[in-house]
Amino acid sequence: THWNHPRFFAYFATSAAPVAIAAEALVATLDVKAMLWRTSPAATELEEVVMRWLGRLMGLPDEFTGIIYDTASIGGFTALAAARQRLDPSIREHGMSGQPDLRVYITEHTHSHVEKGAIALGIGRRNVVRVPCDSSGRMIPQEFESQIARDVAGGKRPMAVVATVGTTSMTSIDPVAQIGAIARRHGVWLHVDAAYAGVAAICPEFAWILEGCESADSLVVNPHKWLFVPMDCSALYVRDEALLRQAFSLVPEYLATTDAGGVRNYMDYGLQLGRRFRALKLWFVLRHFGAQGLRRRLRAHVALAAEFARWVEEEPGWEVAAAHPLALVCFRHAPPELEPTQLDAHNERLMHAANATGEIFLSHTKLDGAFVLRLSVGNLRTSLADVAMAWRVLRSAAGSVA
Ligand code: PLP
Repeated sequence: THWNHPRFFAYFATSAAPVAIAAEALVATLDVKAMLWRTSPAATELEEVVMRWLGRLMGLPDEFTGIIYDTASIGGFTALAAARQRLDPSIREHGMSGQPDLRVYITEHTHSHVEKGAIALGIGRRNVVRVPCDSSGRMIPQEFESQIARDVAGGKRPMAVVATVGTTSMTSIDPVAQIGAIARRHGVWLHVDAAYAGVAAICPEFAWILEGCESADSLVVNPHKWLFVPMDCSALYVRDEALLRQAFSLVPEYLATTDAGGVRNYMDYGLQLGRRFRALKLWFVLRHFGAQGLRRRLRAHVALAAEFARWVEEEPGWEVAAAHPLALVCFRHAPPELEPTQLDAHNERLMHAANATGEIFLSHTKLDGAFVLRLSVGNLRTSLADVAMAWRVLRSAAGSVA
């Protein structure tokens, strides 16, 4: 199962650009532990530079501070810890026992890492509340506000809401501006999970996907998903970086330094002490492709996905299962001779048959309970011929499992 293959269309397809692979080797060669500015001035300052560049490319306001973590899961966990710190700084000293329940709001489409983060922070799964979605898989803002009112009436403390820009199953986009306005009214932290889709905002025609994010408290995007940086590299942007330090900073004697203020010690921004020099590979990618080069490649992926969706739509017996604003298409084979109750098993068999050819690799999800296939375009070397081969393999598999 080769993630860097142009016909890997599963999950969110990704790409390790050759230039970033070279950077990765250089990172291992330098073997920096970027924990204190003193131990790693270049790694620290380059991280500040690339985070500002990336933030500006995506149209984020300069008051956001960007910090690189390994994954969006850890970035999300860290954001929730900052939200908890803002809500009640005493928890850091006293823990949560005897405290009212803290509430985190998500939807059925929110990525599972948010629940894991709530588990790890002692918030508890039962306090992660799923707000209903509309038929396009977007959080309904009024339902969010009603849920807050019910929780407050029940003695609970609303802490954070997670809005997703590009959900994992179907790339739906929550109405961030409306959710943010409600969150602000009630003192609730707004975290935006744009792990996959956020980087699309580099293209002016997709800048709308981050509308409303300028008022978020935190936002995560993953250069290791759709920006050609090899695993791992995830960027968390926060409006108030002091909250991260207040949540996490703890300086034992052996790490104390006399460096004057104005330098950043990244060990203060999360659980980790030593950190990899991840900024270098992102810097290589940004310098190598340039803004225009990145835009051209992202647009090419979106265009390939749109072309595939057109073929599916035009073919009798096949259907596109959800809107495809970016480079992911959800679809299924629904021939009239099959009963609706047979379609899930049929599409599952079809996916296994297609994958068993070894020519392509696809994954699935369930939308409104129905099994659908997902084709994600994200590799630098994926061409129209690759997508056409996927379509041929799928049609042939559909015939063989019918
Ligand atoms: N958020 C979304 C929307 C995702 O799709 C994913 C992974 O696909 C994640 C978060 C988790 O990403 P990571 O593997 O960087 O933790």
